[in-house]
Amino acid sequence: MLVAPGRSERPDDFTPGAWHPAGHDGCPFCEGNESKTPPEVEADRPEGGEANGPGWVTRTVPNLYPAVAPRESGEAADQRKVAGRAGTESSAFSSPADPLLASGRGSEPDMFASRPAYGSHEVIVNSPFHLASLAELEEQSLAAAVAAWRSRMRAHSDSAYVQLILNQGPDSGASLEHSHAQLGAMEFVPPSVARERERVGAYRERTAGASLLGEILREEVRRGERLVAIDEEVALICPWASRHPYEMRLVPRRPVARFEEDEGGAAMLGRAIRALTELFGNPCQLNLWVRTAPRGVEHFHWHLDLIPRLEPASAFEMATGVDINIVSPETAAETLRDAID
Ligand SMILES: [Zn+2]
Repeated sequence: MLVAPGRSERPDDFTPGAWHPAGHDGCPFCEGNESKTPPEVEADRPEGGEANGPGWVTRTVPNLYPAVAPRESGEAADQRKVAGRAGTESSAFSSPADPLLASGRGSEPDMFASRPAYGSHEVIVNSPFHLASLAELEEQSLAAAVAAWRSRMRAHSDSAYVQLILNQGPDSGASLEHSHAQLGAMEFVPPSVARERERVGAYRERTAGASLLGEILREEVRRGERLVAIDEEVALICPWASRHPYEMRLVPRRPVARFEEDEGGAAMLGRAIRALTELFGNPCQLNLWVRTAPRGVEHFHWHLDLIPRLEPASAFEMATGVDINIVSPETAAETLRDAID
């Protein structure tokens, strides 16, 4: 990535897309509208009450439009589906003399190999009230929401990887404004997670047992220039070589492998989102995700990443895979330190 602080680095130079939440009319995630969702898989009802009725503080339902769906009973674990050789007849776009048709690569079916993606895709509703931003949840409610994220992740511990994400605002990809997280339990480990696992493992081997992120955090705390805040449980930093303006990473002070087996972080998450709200308006549009250890991996250090949606991606990023960040993480951290409560 490139850090290219241009004309200015002030937060008011950003004009994130205006977001005026529409309100609770017809919202399937509001308390009382439970019949508008598929039946719940888990809910927290401190005072008791019927499943799929009111009285809950958090509620998890299957995603109505899942990105991955459970395997049908009887389907094989590795049902490799291979596309056949396509387009052997003439069409408006090719003639028999076309060198594309003369290609012998049709005998190498792996070029277009694919396989079905199985798993579970759930929605965790963070509050019974129609709140558009995590910043609007009271401390206790946010703690309950984070506890529900953890509970659902533990429920899928037999998956190769469990991805917890949260989109907030239409520019972030959220299709419903009522605050909710999403969980994808997958039968494969995504490449970026696998790369991090490799790096963490290699560092541990080279240093006879040190945690890569633990060492980074120690150094960030010592230097202080990218540190936003720290409490008893976690630290909040703007990562070195941040790819996006005001990107933040929440890191537990102790190297715990799995987010879902740890406890802390909800209070700091609330502070981080309120700081973004203070700088960029309420409700603030953002993406958030948890990076936790894949199944079977013992040595890892979970973290939670948070990116305010301040600008759309450009063709340069798509063409090169190189992000251009116009706010250095040091400047972002300084601004966020002033804004955080
Ligand atoms: Zn709602």
